[in-house]
Parts: sequence; structure tokens; C-alpha cells
Amino acid sequence: MIELIPNYFMIPFLFILGSIFGSFFNVVIYRLPNNNSIIWPASHCLNCKTSIKYKDNIPILSYLLLGGKCRLCESPFSSRYLLVEILTAVMTVCFYIIFGLNINFVMYLFLIYLLIPITFIDIDHFIIPNEFILLGLLVLFIGLPLDFLPISWEQGLYGALIFSGFLFFIGLIGQFILKKESIGFGDVKLGLILGGYLGVEYSILALYLSFAISAIMVFILLGSNIIDRKAKIPFGPYLAGGTLSAILTTLPNGDNIIINWYYQTMF
Ligand SMILES: [Zn+2]
Repeated sequence: MIELIPNYFMIPFLFILGSIFGSFFNVVIYRLPNNNSIIWPASHCLNCKTSIKYKDNIPILSYLLLGGKCRLCESPFSSRYLLVEILTAVMTVCFYIIFGLNINFVMYLFLIYLLIPITFIDIDHFIIPNEFILLGLLVLFIGLPLDFLPISWEQGLYGALIFSGFLFFIGLIGQFILKKESIGFGDVKLGLILGGYLGVEYSILALYLSFAISAIMVFILLGSNIIDRKAKIPFGPYLAGGTLSAILTTLPNGDNIIINWYYQTMF
């Protein structure tokens, strides 16, 4: 029955729904690491402390209409608010287009809804809060045995062990060579969730992509003097980026563009 809902309704609906979640994630990203309540008080301007009225709190639209400024004191709001809302909205629509309206869509959407706040909190504070890890593990504990994902629970289990085990191992080597923390324990814990979602083959792909993307980014950031060699770099965003790339390059038949290309070139 649910296939009967037309795309011209579903796509705008999911875009708006995604932008509302994005708006909520902005609150979570800003308040959770500071141990502030995410429910109270209502959103307010950080400069003049006036609470933001409902009509000025519409995701994406309000930011654009007000030119990214407070209506009263005109102090600028970070463009990240807009970025997070648009990113969440676009990802919601993308995942719907890839998976259709089914339980796989709900499961993967939940994963990306964890990864968006994790990414920005890790960038700001170099931590991955345990709340996200526990939530992700809980959903896997329910979802894997009930076949809510396109992989078996054994694949999920092995994926989790390989993903987090590899990060733990690389972290140990990094600690030994660099004499400082390279991959944190938060990343190892996040690896359990990512591997549990991806299974073995996709875990290897996502790990490969994460390290490739981080190498390119560090090279660019060092080259353009945005960071120096001693800079601390959060790895969570790259794990999120690698995982997302692995999922988004999956074809409707379940094959993956990058894995196919690899086998065609190598064998
Ligand atoms: Zn203000």
C-alpha cells in the first residue's frame, strides 16, 4: 500500500520532515556537550537573549528570510544552523530515493540521524557522547535479529568486531608511534555501530574510504595552513563520511559501485 504514495508528495514531505529534525539536531549539537537541557529553555538569540518566536523558528526558511540574523538585535547566527538543516533534509530525501519507504529506510535514516550530531559535536569538542553510542547499539540489538537491515545478524556482528577492532588496532599503533592519541576510544565505540550496520564487506569499504577522505582533507588543511602539524583532528566526521559514501554508492540491486569497480579492475 505504501508504494501508492506518490513521489511528488513524499519528497517535499520528507524534505520538510528532515529539516525539522535538522533544526532539533542544532539544539542537540549546541546543548548536549554542555549538559544543558535540550527541551528547556526555548531557542533564544545568544546575543540579546530574546527567545525566538515560532514564526522565526521555521527550519531553513526563517534563516533565509531573516538573512541569518536575529530579528531584534541583528547579530548574525552561525551559517552552520542552515547547513545542518539542509544536510538533514537532503539526506532524508536521498535515503528515501535509495531505499524506498520500508524498514531499511527507517534503519539507515536513524543511522544518519545519529551521525549528523556526532559529526558536529566531535568537530567542536573532540568527543562522541555515549548517549549516541547506546542509542545506536540498542537499535542494532533490536533491528539485526528482526532482519530490519539487508544483512544477517552474523554479518552485523562480524562487521562490528572488524570495524571497531581495526580502529582499536590503528589507535594502538598511533599511540605507539606518535606518542599521542590518534584514534580515540569514542571512535572505537562508534565503529561497533557502523560495522553492525554495514556488515563485513561494507565495513572494509567504509574504513578504506574514511582513511582516504581524512588523508586528503589533512593534506589540504596542512597545505593551506588552516591547521598545523600539531593540530588535533577529530576522526568521527571521517568515519561518518566514509560510511555515508559506502551507503550512497549502493545500487538498487544491492551491489556497490566502488566494490564492483574494484573487482572488475583487480580480477
Ligand atoms: Zn538578538
